[in-house]
Amino acid sequence: MRITRAGEQPSVRANADWFTGEVWQNPIITAPDPARVGSALVTFLPGARTNWHHHPLGQTLYITQGVGWFQTEGEARIEIRAGDVIFIPPLERHWHGATDKTTMSHIAMHERDGESHVTWQEPVADADYLAQG
Ligand code: MN
Repeated sequence: MRITRAGEQPSVRANADWFTGEVWQNPIITAPDPARVGSALVTFLPGARTNWHHHPLGQTLYITQGVGWFQTEGEARIEIRAGDVIFIPPLERHWHGATDKTTMSHIAMHERDGESHVTWQEPVADADYLAQG
């Protein structure tokens, strides 16, 4: 077994190529082969969100703090809150983030297909981000 103690893994500022606004990631696990699971605790400051993207094997989000927004392409934006669990099927195009006024944190869980667990696409335009369901 291997234990990683609190504080051993620095928080990582999310890559601005794939996120809008200020987003911090606390790694939980990137399991070695033959396991595929990856997980991180992700915190979005108000206004921050992912780019549009999809996952080859899907993704589960467990909201741990705050209130955020989630949208699957072609559907209304929804509000997500601490305690909610969201499963996103493989290849479903979507984004997730904070609301414009509140922070949101979630634990993201996903499996990699080969080297990748995500395909990043373009930023979410303000008009889409702010659109009321
Ligand atoms: Mn996702």
